Amino acid sequence: MAKDELMPYEKAIEQFEVVIGLEVHVELNTKTKMFCGCANVFGSEPNTNVCPICIGLPGSLPAVNKKAVESSIAIGLALGCKIAPTGRFARKNYFYPDLAKNFQTSQYDEPIAFDGKLEVEIPTGEKFEVLIERAHMEEDAGKLTHVGGATGRIQGAEYSLVDYNRAGVPLVEIVTKPIFGAGDKAPELAAAYVRLIREMVKSMDVSDAKMERGNVRCDANVSLRPKGQEKLGTRTETKNVNSLRSVEAAVRYEIQRQAAILAKGGTITQETRHWHEDRGNTSSGRPKSDADDYRYFPEPDLVPVQPSSELIESIRSALPENPALRRKRLQSEWGFSELEFRDVVNSDLLDQIEETVKAGASAQSARKWWTGEIARVANSENKEISGLAVTPQDVAGIQKLIDAGKLNDRLARDVLAGVLAGEGTPEEVVAKRGLEVVTDEGALIAAIDQALAKQPDVLEKIREGKVQAAGAVIGAVMQAMKGQADAARVRELILERAK
Ligand SMILES: [Zn+2]
Repeated sequence: MAKDELMPYEKAIEQFEVVIGLEVHVELNTKTKMFCGCANVFGSEPNTNVCPICIGLPGSLPAVNKKAVESSIAIGLALGCKIAPTGRFARKNYFYPDLAKNFQTSQYDEPIAFDGKLEVEIPTGEKFEVLIERAHMEEDAGKLTHVGGATGRIQGAEYSLVDYNRAGVPLVEIVTKPIFGAGDKAPELAAAYVRLIREMVKSMDVSDAKMERGNVRCDANVSLRPKGQEKLGTRTETKNVNSLRSVEAAVRYEIQRQAAILAKGGTITQETRHWHEDRGNTSSGRPKSDADDYRYFPEPDLVPVQPSSELIESIRSALPENPALRRKRLQSEWGFSELEFRDVVNSDLLDQIEETVKAGASAQSARKWWTGEIARVANSENKEISGLAVTPQDVAGIQKLIDAGKLNDRLARDVLAGVLAGEGTPEEVVAKRGLEVVTDEGALIAAIDQALAKQPDVLEKIREGKVQAAGAVIGAVMQAMKGQADAARVRELILERAK
């Protein structure tokens, strides 16, 4: 739908009640896959981490990954869920080349965790309760690459490639109950919820939690109903939204699109939709009825998972502090104001700042770099900050050079640019680009005298108390030194000259 056909957001919210539901897939970071001994690693040559079990050769027998079960229980507990004392895997039957087995081993009516609850804070500070329906274990599918078409999708492709390295990687799928009452905040709530899940699984070290690698993926269900109507509207499910920004934008877009259709008396098709990051819209995927029949049946090759209460309690006692408590602790350790801290959380920079502080920078300088120059670069390149080639150690390294008087602010930004361009560590960039501040006072004084010679009245003005006159000379000196001088020191030297 073209942008001008969408209903303006405020108008859509005025007329309709928004109901959302979120399904988040978390890829676990176990060493091996869910049901076989193949390595669970990202970026291997295609089809090198495969075996008869994960490509479903006849006669092969799966066995459950113990660590994956423990991680799933940990996630369930962190979501406030009950853990099922016994639960079976089930076969979800479908034919598609991304799973060679013709079925996905999943959990159906016996999920490992159910009935949870999370408190989610959105950027304005408002809090919402999100009820968790279930969290179940399953295996990921392989990766299809469609070649030759204009869109990279299967339609119009000449041929498709399949990589089964990801087939059988353990996943936990977390499903919320329908979320009511978020109103115009539904898009922010969806993004904040996914952020919280990501923060949680990362701090528990059960997932690498990199959205850009698909470790955390979100399917967003959106439906609208006229205000006052009891019956839920028809929902759409936007699949595999792979960044927080996209989650928010996709929900917002679907609200405006559905509102425009409903206002004209049209009907919403119950279907999956694809989010297009580049175009900022969704397009129709496949129809999806509630009666999709996958012919689920209990997996006969796997025994039920029956975690003992001792195991569950030992996992519970090993859980890290929950994200809300962690946020409170960090805010007080760092001494940030409410506003500063909220800015950091909403920019998704808690981890980076924590690491930068660990690497030796002060909390305030870490904050300034990540929410300032680095965020600016990410924004101008339309990237996520986590996708930039700068590490917390780099940032702490740059700050160390500033504190030692070797870089001024402008040079430090150049050093950052060098780091981002892959030129090495901050020290290496300084050496390669020759960016160090000139500390040779003789050279500075020579440049100052030269500038003063061109503006002979400046010293007189300073002596009359017009200290701001020094500014023009500082500017000239900085230019002569190609920015590689400490402006504060230049100012001091000029004032000394005026004595
Ligand atoms: Zn395998």
